[in-house]
Amino acid sequence: MSEKKFFRVPSLVTMPCAWSVGPFLDRFYAELGQKKIVGTRCPKCRTVFVPPRSVCGACWKPLTKWVELKDQGELVNYTVAHVDMRGAALQTPRILGMVKLKGGGAKVTAIYGEIKGVAPDRVKVGMKLAAVWADEPKGELTDLSYFQPVSK
Ligand SMILES: [Zn+2]
Repeated sequence: MSEKKFFRVPSLVTMPCAWSVGPFLDRFYAELGQKKIVGTRCPKCRTVFVPPRSVCGACWKPLTKWVELKDQGELVNYTVAHVDMRGAALQTPRILGMVKLKGGGAKVTAIYGEIKGVAPDRVKVGMKLAAVWADEPKGELTDLSYFQPVSK
């Protein structure tokens, strides 16, 4: 069987859109605007979800207890991006990671963020990180600009 070749035109489609994020993410973004990170805790399994969810997917319990987390935590996994969304090489690789924040107890989900202030070959799972906030938060996801290593 021969492999069929297709003519390809690489492109990235952008489509402006807006939608309601619902009451849980609405509060999450509003709290980011105050430089606070909040989640919701499951009354049964005690997992804290960040960003907040309305229902625990494991227990099917509604989540009504809000928890404020620290803006510091630990890197639980990461990847290093060498290309942008269009596939073009980045001059400086970007580190994207999942950070488990303090203040949520033993069971807390990790939040996504860019990691700066450390070289890609020096980043390590378990390293302590702190959030760097936008100078003028607006209640948007970008208020949490990125995470950087905690200086000792
Ligand atoms: Zn649960």
